[in-house]
Amino acid sequence: MVLKRLTTLRKSVLDIIDSSSAPLNAENIHGKLRDRPDLSSVYRSLSFLEERGLIRSVSFECETRYYFGAGKEPVHFIHCKKCHRTESFHGCFATELEESVRDDHDFTITDHVFYFIGICGDCKRKMMEELEGGKL
Ligand SMILES: [Zn+2]
Ligand SMILES: [Zn+2]
Repeated sequence: MVLKRLTTLRKSVLDIIDSSSAPLNAENIHGKLRDRPDLSSVYRSLSFLEERGLIRSVSFECETRYYFGAGKEPVHFIHCKKCHRTESFHGCFATELEESVRDDHDFTITDHVFYFIGICGDCKRKMMEELEGGKL
């Protein structure tokens, strides 16, 4: 059993990721750990867990990586490129696409991750206010 060999820190990191509905970055995870280890230990735990397939990550075209549980489904995210708020959403149109990709490319699909990048409502309103404020 893989879990038995996990250190306390790795286990805590895994628990935090598995119990979160949205993907988390290393700093989010660090902030949730009770006995604040240094951030580099958190990063090492994350690499360890990811290498063993216990967690997965996505970078949303920014430098930060966001981690989520390996068994979590569906994996569909919206990511605000201004404040980096990330949420999951339901609904998927990939099923039909999968069949044609599988047949056209002779490829066995085992999983997919899908995300939209954009601006969240709060950031959009803030931008509008700044824009209007500048005009006055
Ligand atoms: Zn935002
Ligand atoms: Zn999907």
